[in-house]
Amino acid sequence: MSYLVVFLFVYAVFELAEIWLKYLNYQYVSCQDRQKSCQKVLGISEDNLQKSYAYFKDHYYFSLLKKSLYLVCFILFYALGGLTLFEQIALSLSSYVNGAEMVTGIIFFAFTAVVTTILGLPLDYYATFVLEQKHGFNKYTTRLFCTDILKSTVISLVLSSVFYGLFMFLISMGGFWWLTTWILASLFLFLSCLIQPLINHWFYKFAPIDRDGDDQALYDGLVDMAKRVNFQLSKILKINGSKRSTHGNAYFTGFFKQKRVVLYDTLMEKLNHDELLAVVAHELGHYKLGHLKFRVMQATAVSFVVFAGLSLIAARPELAQDFGFSGATLYTTTFFFFLFFNKIIVRFLQPLFSFLSRHDEFAADRFAASLSPAKDLVAGLLKLREMNQTMPLTHPLVSWLYASHPPVIERITVLESIGDEGKA
Ligand SMILES: [Zn+2]
Repeated sequence: MSYLVVFLFVYAVFELAEIWLKYLNYQYVSCQDRQKSCQKVLGISEDNLQKSYAYFKDHYYFSLLKKSLYLVCFILFYALGGLTLFEQIALSLSSYVNGAEMVTGIIFFAFTAVVTTILGLPLDYYATFVLEQKHGFNKYTTRLFCTDILKSTVISLVLSSVFYGLFMFLISMGGFWWLTTWILASLFLFLSCLIQPLINHWFYKFAPIDRDGDDQALYDGLVDMAKRVNFQLSKILKINGSKRSTHGNAYFTGFFKQKRVVLYDTLMEKLNHDELLAVVAHELGHYKLGHLKFRVMQATAVSFVVFAGLSLIAARPELAQDFGFSGATLYTTTFFFFLFFNKIIVRFLQPLFSFLSRHDEFAADRFAASLSPAKDLVAGLLKLREMNQTMPLTHPLVSWLYASHPPVIERITVLESIGDEGKA
């Protein structure tokens, strides 16, 4: 059996398993008794929960359609020689430059990314202007939607071209190339955390919160809270998330002496000062407990083993032939490396990282409860849930495999058991 058939079979099994899990979660969340008891525990009105359920249901059907379409298109593309065609296009385009293998590779990856983005546009458009619109979340104009796509495509093309170019260069140097490419990938991961705030500035407007007006109490409260845990806070910013959607969020950004709190304007509108302080205390918890640092370190450590393993497979000439390439090249090795990484390996790693992430969420909640009253975080989480119309339930298996955050009902149950340990 060819490598291509084995790969497509494994890929399809994973995709079908995910579709089945989505169905399982849908059945679990749709259970009337479960919804009723959840409503009681969280004190949510029937009407409110039904709104969230309608949003969840529309998302469920949309994700089924999207997953099935992608699965069929992916298999057809590979089975009907799509890679041969893409390689031919890259080869003919690179012949205008100098025809070097690395140039062909960069064009091949850029072309694939652009085609994938264009083909995904109708679904992205539907998700924004039909699905999100129907539930009252969308604030995008068509113009802003197009500008955002153009900007993110440009950023990802520039960054990925640099990355793939260096990756192929390191493979061409031979020797322990899995080790040098692993160092490169780790550096990129670190750099991407560093430049993320700069990228965000290209999309959103940031403004310092009004320290002399309505938000003075909030400002003083945040500064005081940061001082209590010895956290050097350089700025407290408000982001104009409402230009795109009514969903709300808060996060920390920056390193060293440039640490900032960023609050969505949508969140500031809905949450009172105490609830905002509690939400920020949770984010502060992630920072103080070193979650981001550990996450980067964990990813780097795991990828060390993965890179060593994948380097044994990705360069095989018979693999390139089976998939329809003209032969084994620098770009086919790079291609197989990331194809197997993204489509197969990641699925094995996801439960581990989801588990660690959920563990961090509980830890950050406990940290927040030690800084501000737990009831404020409970109230904040409930408002955040309502703002984002999140169903507070998730099937335990689905949560275990994929969820980065525990279901709201679990977080609130734990917070209520902690009680008010706050010093505020
Ligand atoms: Zn969190």
